[in-house]
Amino acid sequence: MGLTAAHELLRKGFDVTIFEKDDRVGGMSASFDFDGLKIERYYHFFCKPDAPVFEMLAEFGLSGRLKWVETKMGFFYRGELFKWGNPIALLLFPHLGFLSKIRFGLQVFLSIRRKNWDKLDRVSALRWIKDFTGEKTYEVLWESLLDLKFHRYKDRLSAAWVGRRLKRVGLSRKNILTEELAYLEGGVEVLLDALTARIKELGGRIFLNAEVTRISRGKETLSLAVDDRELSFDKVLSTMPLPYIPRMVPGLPGGVLEKYKQLENIGVVCVILKLTGSLTENFWLNISDPEIALPGIIEFSNIRPLPDKVVYFPFYLPRDHGNFSKSDDYFLAEVKAYCKKINPNFEENWVLAAGVHRYEYAQPVCPPGFLGMLPPIETGLEGFYAVDTSYYYPEDRSISESILMGKGAANLLLGDKKLQQEGQKKYVTLMRLKTAKR
Ligand SMILES: Cc1cc2nc3c(=O)[nH]c(=O)nc-3n(C[C@H](O)[C@H](O)[C@H](O)COP(=O)(O)OP(=O)(O)OC[C@H]3O[C@@H](n4cnc5c(N)ncnc54)[C@H](O)[C@@H]3O)c2cc1C
Repeated sequence: MGLTAAHELLRKGFDVTIFEKDDRVGGMSASFDFDGLKIERYYHFFCKPDAPVFEMLAEFGLSGRLKWVETKMGFFYRGELFKWGNPIALLLFPHLGFLSKIRFGLQVFLSIRRKNWDKLDRVSALRWIKDFTGEKTYEVLWESLLDLKFHRYKDRLSAAWVGRRLKRVGLSRKNILTEELAYLEGGVEVLLDALTARIKELGGRIFLNAEVTRISRGKETLSLAVDDRELSFDKVLSTMPLPYIPRMVPGLPGGVLEKYKQLENIGVVCVILKLTGSLTENFWLNISDPEIALPGIIEFSNIRPLPDKVVYFPFYLPRDHGNFSKSDDYFLAEVKAYCKKINPNFEENWVLAAGVHRYEYAQPVCPPGFLGMLPPIETGLEGFYAVDTSYYYPEDRSISESILMGKGAANLLLGDKKLQQEGQKKYVTLMRLKTAKR
């Protein structure tokens, strides 16, 4: 998001400096060297509605790098592996009655067709799911997923947010029986490299390992503490996760500060394994099993052809959850046990390499009425603007939304009159109109 905003500002002739605390750009979408393979620290794929990514790829002459693949989905339910993700698989699934299946299928179908999400914005996702599909379907298909992804926040989710997730993936199909998703040949890094190169060509400066620790208002400019330096800027746009802001920006008006403090977020500890053998044929495997503390696993080599099999195991955990700070070895031991459970042929010696990555604020919790809870993007501290993945709402986090939001935030900062007059409310409405159109 920060890179896109910078690109937009540079294109319009402004002087831009980016500070990134990591040793690389890309945040959640960044890659790492996995024993000789450049791959994302966290799994990344694209869906058919991700138009802003496709437009950016075209702008950089990279459209040919986007590869669409017919992917398979599975469901590991109480020790058994089932096919999933199409009407036939649903009909053959033995743990739900016919009526429950029809109700579930209908909810997914109507979510895919739905254009207006305003009514669902104020509805609880749990209520929406249970009322539509019944308690039994909730127990079988949703309970474990929501427990393991949202923990104590699972009853604080907006139905609009859950419904938009169903829609984004649901629209990514070749036909009713076949899901089609895309990956980038060379990984997301290809796009990040092109964007970074263009930013530098346009005169932008990018400082890595440069953590901003304080943002305050001087007489005429904003002052940024970056490591041991104090630097001055006319305007500052923050695209770091919002929960960092309260302790970093002491001059925020009290009401706005309170809004920041109300926001909740989930972190992720993501294990990645390089294996000699495949766990299943599926790209995405949903899991509901009392012995597996994961909502799903992603066998990435089932979408992107790779020399070895590569599987991601995301543990979504609030930062204050007892497990978040457990050692890498703890998580590695857990996932090896899960591999054996999912595929009994799995042996320890299948593991060629392993990695563990953590991101403190990986997923905002979006409760009913989330739009009204968001702090204003124009924060009230003159010249200081802040956005993060929360503002995608009701859309889930994605690179596509980051691109939209980065461009939008840059224009807000430039003082686009229409957006400025009506403030953030209008801005969010615009964003929603845009996403609804797609
Ligand atoms: C497990 C996982 C799977 C995902 N899968 C997909 C997918 O399949 N498809 C998809 O499109 N999207 C996916 N996403 C989402 C996607 O990665 C994000 O939406 C996107 O990368 C968000 O980018 P951002 O720039 O908005 O935020 P971030 O990635 O959070 O970037 C914020 C940046 O701010 C920096 N920062 C923080 N504090 C400071 C500071 N004090 N000073 C300087 N810099 C600071 C951080 O280092 C980081 O680089 C996934 C994310 C995760 C975690």
